[in-house]
Amino acid sequence: MTARGVPSEPCADDPGAWDLDAGELIQWLAAMRTCRESCPLLAECVSLREQLYPGSGPSGAKRDNPKSVIWAGVAYGETGEVLPPDSLRILAARRRGAAVRALTAAAARRA
Ligand code: SF4
Repeated sequence: MTARGVPSEPCADDPGAWDLDAGELIQWLAAMRTCRESCPLLAECVSLREQLYPGSGPSGAKRDNPKSVIWAGVAYGETGEVLPPDSLRILAARRRGAAVRALTAAAARRA
């Protein structure tokens, strides 16, 4: 809540946690939970998403969806695919694996 009593959006305080290009798994899961369980603007946020991305939502087509973001409690991957928590875990694991491979390759080049 702001000083004037107008509800504020939790994502504005920590935008990286709602960004699938920037955040981490634990932040993404918390962001989804925050949207669904404690954001005072959830209904308005869903309306805005549907206005800007007609056809979006948990069952929307990838091409119609926002990309690489958590919006109103729904996580969208880099091609607009809806990512449930298990898919977010897989995405995070793949990124960790890629990071480890990059470090391993760099160490091998230095050796
Ligand atoms: S419901 Fe919308 S405004 Fe609220 S925290 Fe989630 S993304 Fe932000």
